[in-house]
Amino acid sequence: MSKEIIVSGIRPTGNLHLGNYLGAVQNFVKMQYEHNCYFFIADYHSLTTHPNPQDLHQNVRQVLVEYLACGLNPDACTLYVQSDLPQIPELYMLLNMHAYMGELERVASFKEKARTQPNNINAGLLTYPVLMAADIIIHKATKVPVGKDQEQHLEMARTFGNRFNRMYGKDIFPEPYAFNFGKELVKIPGLQGGGKMSKSDGDNNVINLIDSPELIRKKMSRAVTDTGPSEPNTAPSAPVQNLFDLMKIVSTEDKLTFYQQAYANCNIRYGDFKKDLAEDMVTFLTPVREKIADIQSNNELLKKVAKIGKEKAAESADKTLAECREAIGFRGF
Ligand code: AMP
Repeated sequence: MSKEIIVSGIRPTGNLHLGNYLGAVQNFVKMQYEHNCYFFIADYHSLTTHPNPQDLHQNVRQVLVEYLACGLNPDACTLYVQSDLPQIPELYMLLNMHAYMGELERVASFKEKARTQPNNINAGLLTYPVLMAADIIIHKATKVPVGKDQEQHLEMARTFGNRFNRMYGKDIFPEPYAFNFGKELVKIPGLQGGGKMSKSDGDNNVINLIDSPELIRKKMSRAVTDTGPSEPNTAPSAPVQNLFDLMKIVSTEDKLTFYQQAYANCNIRYGDFKKDLAEDMVTFLTPVREKIADIQSNNELLKKVAKIGKEKAAESADKTLAECREAIGFRGF
């Protein structure tokens, strides 16, 4: 397998939950040993919503702590804070000169924001896809791990890179495409009986990596079930199926089979089922939680990681920018 150049942004939005870990971070941890990976904490992107400085700093720090605790290895990948790289806004500005109002106004995420937050439609929001393109193409990325909702942004990164190449008659930027993990994307269900684990359905819907055993037990005891199977061998309702799916991840096969059979025989006791699942959840997450606590207080480590990341990322970004500046005609004397 040939090595890809992979770039992925991590949003600094508070604590990671089990869905983030199993659906995304675990893949990053694997990828870092197989490809040339750049992972950055997207703090410039946060500015469109005007966060307060203390929250912003705290969130960036927490994301760094949790990704390290999950296994991102700064020796294997390039892990950096986006705002440590002034090269990114420089490329963003250069790309903006060839980004058209019409195409930016047509972007689905902009239209959605313009609808939901009509009092804060700033230029940063409009040019968000240009900043995203700069993030990606500054390292000449070939692959980007993105969800369906990001496909349009990725297409724009190709458009802006190609346009720059064409404009200046150079071949600086390769085309970045979606990275495929090779199997169907996992969907970790939430605890409230609905779809996926997500904070948008409240904190009781998610198990955060930092949740204490007591909190995990409390959340699990409140997890939504149903009134119980009315006939033998019927398919579980959606909320109960969600709990079986979670059990598949954190428990042994024997235990899963035991409760599936109890369900099929109509003698499942949801209280025991959820208690048992909670204990396995606690066991599964304890090593990560302990690592988070370890790293949390290690300011020296965080400083060192950010510094190494910044240096490695700047080296790659400087190379690309030098080519762009030369192509444009910023040549010095
Ligand atoms: P978010 O911050 O909610 O956009 O999540 C960041 C990433 O975590 C997403 O791109 C998904 O790949 C992953 N993720 C979030 N929630 C889940 C979930 N319930 N199941 C699987 N993956 C998830």
